[in-house]
Amino acid sequence: TYVVTSPCIDVKDKSCTLVCPVDCIYEGGRMMYIHPDECIECGACEDACPMSAILYSEDIDDGTRGYLTANATFFEEI
Ligand code: SF4
Repeated sequence: TYVVTSPCIDVKDKSCTLVCPVDCIYEGGRMMYIHPDECIECGACEDACPMSAILYSEDIDDGTRGYLTANATFFEEI
């Protein structure tokens, strides 16, 4: 899946939501979140984000791993 990371915090540009073909990007309190089960991994959001905040999950490293967890928590709570 794809995951939104720190550059989105308090920015929420939302260009990603305009290009996502399955409308799986949801607005949280301070950033956007991508639903891991609904995402079809097309990559359109990664290219559309002016902040380069969206990463493919395989590109997540120790510095951004917390966003995978935060993402999962967000969808458990809504
Ligand atoms: Fe939507 Fe494609 Fe981004 Fe997944 S990779 S969140 S389907 S735009």
